[in-house]
Amino acid sequence: MGRREDEIGPRREDGVGVGSRNPRRGPLARTRVWASREPGLPDEGQRGELQREEEYRIDFPWAGEIHDDVTAAFERLQQALRKLPGVGYRSSERIALHLLLGKTDQLKELVAALEESSLTVHRCSRCGNLADGDLCAICSDAKRDHRAVCVVENVPDLVAIERSGSWRGTYHVLHGKLSPMHHIGPAELNISSLLALIAAGEVDELVLALSNDVEGEATCHYIQGNIPAGREVRVTRIGFGIPSGGGVLYADSVTLRSALEGRRAFS
Ligand SMILES: [Zn+2]
Repeated sequence: MGRREDEIGPRREDGVGVGSRNPRRGPLARTRVWASREPGLPDEGQRGELQREEEYRIDFPWAGEIHDDVTAAFERLQQALRKLPGVGYRSSERIALHLLLGKTDQLKELVAALEESSLTVHRCSRCGNLADGDLCAICSDAKRDHRAVCVVENVPDLVAIERSGSWRGTYHVLHGKLSPMHHIGPAELNISSLLALIAAGEVDELVLALSNDVEGEATCHYIQGNIPAGREVRVTRIGFGIPSGGGVLYADSVTLRSALEGRRAFS
């Protein structure tokens, strides 16, 4: 399968681990070895280890039987899984094995969900949020203030603000932030549609809820500097400061600077 040692970490000498290549050194084999050495009742620590191995054996009963000559389809599935964010070699191997060999019902459910969502979910034509129609649920909501737009980097940011219940306007999702280091310019982001909305006179207020770093700052400056001439738009940026329940002592210097710059009258 061509795995590299640095991808999977050092191989443990006791042979424990998902996908141990040598079937004789897999978890099952190790349990058997332990049983042959210790015929009596195991102590507390040994019981815990045995229980973990037993659970592991139930979840991955085939784990000691993995060989280099897995099928090409399995290899392709694993490679496809590895392209997903946050999934490394080990995770992709586990997920692929789990779906293909262990839980066939979950595989069918996953395939159906992927098929359905790939056909129905797309970007809202107005704000870039996830939508199953032309407009997302927020843009379709007549009770929202459509002239006040909160600009966020990604959909999870929108969800977080929605969860707070503190914003009754609409959103605009950029799907990233300007980053010359990663070759992300304005053309790669959902900025032109925002500027078009402003040019059409549909926006009175813009709240920039972008991250408090150099790239977020650059993105804010770009948006502000490209507001079409002749349009009066109130542009604000969300405050950054001490988190709720946090103290000044434990805040880093960037947070403290932001908190002091964003101070407001106490009333
Ligand atoms: Zn929308």
